[in-house]
Amino acid sequence: MTKLKKAQLECANWDCGKCTGCSIHINKGYLERNSWAPVFQTILSKKVNKPCTAEDGCDYFENYILEK
Ligand code: SF4
Repeated sequence: MTKLKKAQLECANWDCGKCTGCSIHINKGYLERNSWAPVFQTILSKKVNKPCTAEDGCDYFENYILEK
């Protein structure tokens, strides 16, 4: 399966081949110490409504789609 196809099937940011640009951040060290952590959500304006870049490199894809 290509990365692009995997993004289409599994990425929450996929929108008809374009990206919604949403990203999340969780501090793993904080999570391990406290058994909970706040989740910070940001919008990456450079990715919003642009074609999916899963094939060429996408941090969200690498961190949350391939690593799950
Ligand atoms: S660019 Fe990354 S975050 Fe956006 S749709 Fe593609 S895989 Fe998902």
